[in-house]
Amino acid sequence: MDTILFVAQTEGDASLGKASLEALNAAKSLAGELGVAFSVGLVGVTVQAAADSIAGCGAQAFFGVSGDEFAQARYATDAAALAALAKAAGATIVIGAATSRMSRVLPGVAARLDGRSDTNVTALTVAGDKPTVTRWHYRQRMSAELTRPERPWFISVSPGCFAPCSKQAATAIVTPVMPELPTGGLRAKVTSIISPSAEEQTIRPDAALLFVAGAGWTKKQADGAAHLSEAEEIILQFLSKAQASLGTSKSLVDLSGEGQQVMRFLTHMHQVGQTGSTPRHAKGLATCCHGEEPHTVGWRFIGERRAVNLDPNCGWAQGKADVLYVADAFEVMRALIKIMD
Ligand SMILES: Cc1cc2nc3c(=O)[nH]c(=O)nc-3n(C[C@H](O)[C@H](O)[C@H](O)COP(=O)(O)OP(=O)(O)OC[C@H]3O[C@@H](n4cnc5c(N)ncnc54)[C@H](O)[C@@H]3O)c2cc1C
Repeated sequence: MDTILFVAQTEGDASLGKASLEALNAAKSLAGELGVAFSVGLVGVTVQAAADSIAGCGAQAFFGVSGDEFAQARYATDAAALAALAKAAGATIVIGAATSRMSRVLPGVAARLDGRSDTNVTALTVAGDKPTVTRWHYRQRMSAELTRPERPWFISVSPGCFAPCSKQAATAIVTPVMPELPTGGLRAKVTSIISPSAEEQTIRPDAALLFVAGAGWTKKQADGAAHLSEAEEIILQFLSKAQASLGTSKSLVDLSGEGQQVMRFLTHMHQVGQTGSTPRHAKGLATCCHGEEPHTVGWRFIGERRAVNLDPNCGWAQGKADVLYVADAFEVMRALIKIMD
């Protein structure tokens, strides 16, 4: 019989992030399907508040690693903490969210404990009596269901695939766990965090809508001229009004590498597709991009997809979008912004 442990690092304010609450739900429902109990393992400066916030989640036990050295992401401390939690709980299956901090360390912990690891899992089920994970391969082109006999099995769950576990506050009894830290001291130190301000931030993973801007925004339009600054203004206005997340095609990102003028707020981080990211959002609106397979791969997890393109034979018309507006995106977006005023 498997013993399931949900693990998470606390956020800067000592709470649990949305992705962690989703992973908690994943662990809880797998335990329910298997008919086994599950435990919670938390890492942070203090973990009591986070444990209290989910005290009513149904976990049979809470374990915690706390201390100042666990405030920041650092491989040595995070790996030691998670390994100690897995051992303390006697876990055979360890489930965490595929956040950047957890993803950096969970497969390494599996190696330390001679276990196995599967990352960015999108579904957890029980086939027969075996826990089974679903994950995508080859840049989201093939999906596989797999199970493993080896234990401990470390699983990171992709954000956006499970509903977050609702917070049920009470007082949790947390068993403190003391990890063994490296004897040579902790060499890696986080001295500061540099991040863009809220207004500059255009990648919003929790937004309801993904807005994709393609290379068409930079191309010559019907009047024979390109209208880049107008395009920038329209896109930024729409993003700010809709609080949408911005994605872009490879062509538009690559233009900067070719010395052409591109939009100042675009980086390679915005690229969606086979060689970009595959964000998850309820809705998507693609404008001025062609609907090619390599970038529509990035749309695999978009619920409702719409596109605006001048070309009625573009890729979106070949089944890549639910609704295609054959229209000028400059006009459509201007009209849309007016309605939103
Ligand atoms: C191995 C490989 C991997 C790749 N990976 C990726 C990837 O990860 N992500 C990615 O994006 N691409 C990727 N590509 C590139 C991809 O194949 C396309 O070349 C690129 O995505 C096309 O970008 P685009 O649609 O923005 O531009 P274009 O193909 O230039 O299309 C511009 C579109 O804008 C439309 N348009 C112009 N003006 C207007 C207007 N006023 N209103 C409405 N529509 C207008 C045009 O009709 C046209 O359809 C990859 C390619 C290869 C070979």
